[in-house]
Amino acid sequence: AKNNGRGSAAFFDQEMDEHARERRALEHDLRHAIARDQLHLMFQPLVATAFGSIVGYEALLRWDHPEKGAIEPDQFIPIAEESGAIVAIGEWVLREACAVAATWPENVSIAVNVSTVQFQVPNLPAVVRDALAQSGLDARRLELEITETAFLRNRQSALKALHEIRALGVRVAMDDFGTGYSSLSNLKAFPFDKIKIDKSFIAAIADDEAARSIVRAIVGLGRSFNMPIVAEGVETEEQRQMLLDEGCPQAQGYFFGYPAANPFLHDSRHEIPD
Ligand code: C2E
Ligand code: CA
Ligand code: CA
Ligand code: CA
Repeated sequence: AKNNGRGSAAFFDQEMDEHARERRALEHDLRHAIARDQLHLMFQPLVATAFGSIVGYEALLRWDHPEKGAIEPDQFIPIAEESGAIVAIGEWVLREACAVAATWPENVSIAVNVSTVQFQVPNLPAVVRDALAQSGLDARRLELEITETAFLRNRQSALKALHEIRALGVRVAMDDFGTGYSSLSNLKAFPFDKIKIDKSFIAAIADDEAARSIVRAIVGLGRSFNMPIVAEGVETEEQRQMLLDEGCPQAQGYFFGYPAANPFLHDSRHEIPD
């Protein structure tokens, strides 16, 4: 048994090494992902809860790794945030999303996720302004999604960035509301245009009275702060109906549409060559 204990400790160390090595390898590969054209965006519809009509799309990042295949953002965004690579990647996302959305009908908006790390770089408002100018996208069609962690540190500079971005005419949504560091004082202190309720509450809404009460309270909060509420992760008609009953105006989730390629891209393969 003595040996056994030592053995498993050694095995544990070895696993840790492997994990660290794997992480370093991903970190390294990520640095070349943009130049090697391995990143692309998917677009998931955002709809009016009542009618299911599409009001916009959220851009969701994908990484096609040459050996490992498709890697989920939850697996590489944290690594990119730690290494700082997220700043260049986030800028690429912003420029690509604006360029794509500029080709869409004018009543369709685009939502782009912005990492807390990007939010701490002082030139973010300038990058946003430049992405709009380069693409010709109307600022009112762009929405940035940030989480509350952006306001944990450097509250004053975060507030300044938020004001500068909104002054461009770009809307800002609070993402993943209800998880982590949610604090009502953030709603009062920071001018958001929209609140996205985290999908964990929506997943539970049909079976769990407490989750439903929380959703009801958030919708009420949104109403009193004049911030429209979006529910993410809607997967069933039952959830949609409940959200409608609670007065939640917008929704997003597999029930309405999966993340997919550019929805307005004209497929040239079907064109008759001239
Ligand atoms: P998020 O911003 O909360 O995005 C919603 C996630 O939920 C997406 O996962 C989406 O595919 C998934 N989802 C949508 N509808 C449903 C549903 O009905 N049920 C369930 N179970 N899931 C649904 P995805 O694309 O894997 O992205 C995960 C997270 O990675 C995002 O969470 C966001 O935090 C981050 N992320 C994605 N793209 C970017 C990006 O361009 N920049 C940054 N900084 N973060 C990104
Ligand atoms: Ca989001
Ligand atoms: Ca979320
Ligand atoms: Ca998230």
